[in-house]
Amino acid sequence: ARGIRIKGVSKLYTGTSHPAVDEVSLDIADGEFMTFLGPSGSGKTTMLSMLAGFVSVSAGSIEIDGRDVSRLKPHKRDLGVVFQQYALFPHLSVTKNVAFPLQQRKTPKAEIARRVAETLDLVHLGDYADRLPGQLSGGQQQRVALARAVVYEPRALLMDEPLGALDKRLRDQLQREIARMHRELGMTFIFVTHDQHEALTLSDRIAVFNEGRIEQVGKPADLYERP
Ligand code: ADP
Ligand code: ADP
Repeated sequence: ARGIRIKGVSKLYTGTSHPAVDEVSLDIADGEFMTFLGPSGSGKTTMLSMLAGFVSVSAGSIEIDGRDVSRLKPHKRDLGVVFQQYALFPHLSVTKNVAFPLQQRKTPKAEIARRVAETLDLVHLGDYADRLPGQLSGGQQQRVALARAVVYEPRALLMDEPLGALDKRLRDQLQREIARMHRELGMTFIFVTHDQHEALTLSDRIAVFNEGRIEQVGKPADLYERP
């Protein structure tokens, strides 16, 4: 079975009495744009962190293409991750930042050059290849982070409020870029936000989180029908 399957997953952080994520189950189809929407503290980041492998599951399992990955280290899960605070290497050029995951995977040099160029084109940063992150705007830095997360063609791209640190104009622009990237790559995207408008604009389906549980799952039109 292709896709990502979350089965009865819970997280009880050490020293707390209430689970941050409480028996969540959800199937995410291949190529789907799935958004976790909900207020602050509802468990969205914890769920995404368990998918990424940054936080251990207390109960339940996570399967990717039928394989249980719940106990695998993050780098063994083959997922790209982008958080609000883009953690670019400040002393490396845009090209070298994006090449980094390919070098770690011992990709041949010629292929690295080709893939980095393609991916910088995808995020419209071809003219900025030699810049340092500090010489770019916030929106451009986030596009570098997106490029670095997808350059090795991971199984899915996980994003936690990637537009949260940007002003309104840049946010709208990057929203359109992310929608276009999703169409062009055909990759599974999992996106965390507390912004309903953002969720409605981008998603194939939305999982609405509240107090650690998924309250509703559905297509934007089904969840928020106009009267
Ligand atoms: P969201 O992403 O929806 O804002 P989080 O997953 O960050 O929600 O948080 C869910 C709940 O878990 C909150 O009550 C939060 O305080 C708690 N929490 C988050 N991270 C930790 C942690 N490392 N240790 C203990 N509690 C945490
Ligand atoms: P795991 O089982 O995934 O290792 P832990 O319960 O050990 O998860 O917590 C993960 C990390 O979050 C730990 O480093 C812990 O110190 C830290 N942490 C604990 N309580 C909080 C909190 N209230 N807010 C943010 N981080 C916290």
